[in-house]
Amino acid sequence: MDPLRDPAEMDRRDPLTRFRDRFELPEGLIYLGGHSLGPLPRTTRDRAEGLIGREWGTDLVVAWNRSDWLELPERIGARIAPLVGAGADEVIAADSVSLNLFKLLGALMLRARGRRVVLADEGNFPTDLYMAQGLVRLLEESGATLQLTAPEDFESALDSDVAVATVSHVDFRTGRRRDPRALTAAARASGVPLVWDLSHSAGAVALRLKEAGVEYAVGCGYKYLNGGPGAPGFLYVAREFQDSLESPLTGWMGHAGPFDFDTSYRPAPGMRRFLTGTPPILSLAALEDGLRTFEGVNMAEFRGKSEALGDLFLRLAAERLAEFGVVPASPADAGERGAQVSLRHAEGYALIQALSARGVVGDFRGPDLMRFGLAPLYVRYADVWTAVEALRLILVNGEHREARFRRPKRVP
Ligand SMILES: *Cc1c(COP(=O)(O)O)cnc(C)c1O
Repeated sequence: MDPLRDPAEMDRRDPLTRFRDRFELPEGLIYLGGHSLGPLPRTTRDRAEGLIGREWGTDLVVAWNRSDWLELPERIGARIAPLVGAGADEVIAADSVSLNLFKLLGALMLRARGRRVVLADEGNFPTDLYMAQGLVRLLEESGATLQLTAPEDFESALDSDVAVATVSHVDFRTGRRRDPRALTAAARASGVPLVWDLSHSAGAVALRLKEAGVEYAVGCGYKYLNGGPGAPGFLYVAREFQDSLESPLTGWMGHAGPFDFDTSYRPAPGMRRFLTGTPPILSLAALEDGLRTFEGVNMAEFRGKSEALGDLFLRLAAERLAEFGVVPASPADAGERGAQVSLRHAEGYALIQALSARGVVGDFRGPDLMRFGLAPLYVRYADVWTAVEALRLILVNGEHREARFRRPKRVP
């Protein structure tokens, strides 16, 4: 079967079609924005209503015990674990990606002896760089510095001056994917602990953190994990390193006995030490339902579909859009991609707005990148086909030249 010729037949044969029903997707909308905000799972409304009405509304403060609210960060960590190939006690849900990265980089700097360089790939999501800048400022007196490298120079920059390094698994601009096993091994050979940002890979590609030897990672809850706007992120620390690390943000929820109300901090055992303040229960509950959309997914089928959707998108783009100056920004080889496909066009911003007016949602990242998230649980082959056709029609008709599609928005 050639998906290029008969996408509808591909959808009929798709073993993952039944999962689309787990989401409330507006009729007629083609949603390729899951790399930015996952769609609403069907169960989340009831969950939120029960939590607000019964647990908070009726049980009130008693709910902390009756509904075991404090267990949520670990329970959700245990649900993320199989998606990233980690042990259930190696992942915990907490805070934002930015804060989690700060905690891990800071913990590793506290432990670093002699070395004072924080190394970051300059292609990282900017918040990762900003958090590293803030950390280095705090540690300025001790000689800490931040070194940024081009993505292609990252591996060779892992030398004996580097105290800690951070890199994204899947590049948020191009969808290019790195090899966690090879790069972690290279870092380890230079004695550098490496923190991976999995924001564009958890729930998007099959990950095997443990098998690949990955030691530290952070990831996002509101993108491919479908946790809702501003959902908490997560941290992963391989079991053998957990008890030798101390978070620099020593909040009471990471204390060994939060309700002992000691005057001094003692870290909780295991991943709980990476918690800071009171967990956001409403948001965590929504994230738990986001993760339930993955129940029963065969990860081999999942990855197979993700690759096939991306291949289809890029082939159609080459065939139907190249003549209008649309250039692929993602690797042609599915083995080097995440679940997102990016295309370049000088008028990319207006094209994305015009697409949205036609019911196809992607997003734009300056200066010229159009991004399309191909989440295998709810994106159909026919959606990819329709999206590329819509883009072609817009280009043929020059629809994107209309003034209303050029107005800047707060969130592009
Ligand atoms: C989305 C994203 C973030 C977002 O961080 P928050 O602090 O949770 O807003 C961080 N890193 C990457 C790579 C991302 O894609």
